[in-house]
Amino acid sequence: MEVVFLSSEVVPFAKTGGLADVGRALPDALAAAGIKVNVFMPLYGVVESKKAGIKKIKKLSLRFGGRTYAYEVCGKEEKGVNFYFIKQKIFFDREGIYGSLSGDYPDNASRFIFFQKAVLHSLKSLKIKADVIHLNDWQTALVPKFLSNGQSRVPTVLTVHNLAYQGEYDAKSAKYAGLKKSEMLYGSRFNSLAYGISGATAVTTVSPTYAKEMKTKKFGCGLEYFLKKRGPYFKGILNGLDYGLWNPSSDKAIAASYSATSPEGKEKCKKALQKEMGLPQTDAMLVSFVGRLAMQKGMDIMVPALQRLISGKIQFVMLGTGDVHYHRVLSVLAKRFPKNFALRLDFDDDMAHRIYAGSDLFLMPSQYEPCGLGQMIAFSYGAVPVVNKVGGLMDTVSEYSLHRKTGTGFLLEDYSSAALEKALRKAMGIYGKRSRFRELSARCMRQRFSWQKSALKYIRLYNKLIDESGAPPLRPLRKP
Ligand code: ADP
Repeated sequence: MEVVFLSSEVVPFAKTGGLADVGRALPDALAAAGIKVNVFMPLYGVVESKKAGIKKIKKLSLRFGGRTYAYEVCGKEEKGVNFYFIKQKIFFDREGIYGSLSGDYPDNASRFIFFQKAVLHSLKSLKIKADVIHLNDWQTALVPKFLSNGQSRVPTVLTVHNLAYQGEYDAKSAKYAGLKKSEMLYGSRFNSLAYGISGATAVTTVSPTYAKEMKTKKFGCGLEYFLKKRGPYFKGILNGLDYGLWNPSSDKAIAASYSATSPEGKEKCKKALQKEMGLPQTDAMLVSFVGRLAMQKGMDIMVPALQRLISGKIQFVMLGTGDVHYHRVLSVLAKRFPKNFALRLDFDDDMAHRIYAGSDLFLMPSQYEPCGLGQMIAFSYGAVPVVNKVGGLMDTVSEYSLHRKTGTGFLLEDYSSAALEKALRKAMGIYGKRSRFRELSARCMRQRFSWQKSALKYIRLYNKLIDESGAPPLRPLRKP
């Protein structure tokens, strides 16, 4: 079986979030299970091609929006996976992936439509015969539309990593996708993700609970109708974690190695983190956050809860970039409480490793969370997660019980700063009983979310779709 896998970001070449981790780990796991995988992504200016050993393979050209564009396919092979990069100066040779500090690039629609068309266009020259095409998020969600134009029967799987990002654009951009006026959704606009959800042979998302939530008005972001219509062809498959990358016993970025059975190094990592962040090297409970500074991640409840909790007994470390409003608010807090609150407004993978390793607790009080990698990484490093009861967080974290000695974290009763404060106070209580807390941290380290298991579920789905591919094509998209 040969799979073509499209992702707008892939570790280690370009990353803004969890999609990049999945874009790497799932193809690796599929290849390990004997599937031939060809991963395609754009070659952005930020990709360090030379360092990564990416080589030019083919020079091609494509008619697009009334012009002819020259582009190159570059590539490299790693661990049995073929990585291909679409190199096109005008669209991709920029510092950012989706935008700059002043916001999203205004031509993102044409950039990613070009990417999708170029991938399909290049397959023949590369002599790739896809049995399945696996798509990820809105940046790749129009592929079923382009395939159906060519009457292709290749099954497609669209994985939705975050329903809130839909790639909705105006009529001007629709012409690049070749959409007619009658095919527009939402009046004069078109919605890439809605097309993908309706047109892909099957749709998946990254956890079973998020799959259920997505069909509700509360979490459906206006697309619940399209998802409900997909019946059994829409389901949740939990992401795994790449334990080759996220493992305190082999991590070169952290101060000392450790594991569940010999956890001594964790204390050294905490001291090193406190020193790096300019925090006093006390045994205060160290709570961290690594992620996008966005509403989704619970910023609005985190800020007031942190303000109420900041004292000598607790230290906060935050690493992230995002909404400038939160950059400002958090910078004020960091200035006011230099001994308890360290902030780094940056994207720094090595620092993220050091933070996970040096923390006692990890904050993830997200409003919604499709799967979440942060809590899985935190588990691996023995940082106990504090999470909201949504999406993948529900599928991975269970409430700690001192009495029964079970559970792997602290869950918020509801989405509020009071509930977050309460959960953190409970955690502080357990932290006070140090042997109990160490037991809990070791239990976290022993959690395993295997990509192998998830990859097998995807393979089962691919096989089912290949078997059924003689079936008549899906019904065309209709507006609710
Ligand atoms: P998202 O919704 O952003 O995809 P996830 O929890 O699924 O959230 O994945 C976030 C990934 O991005 C994790 O690997 C996390 O360590 C990483 N990450 C997020 N922000 C930063 C940052 N500022 N610096 C380094 N790594 C980051």
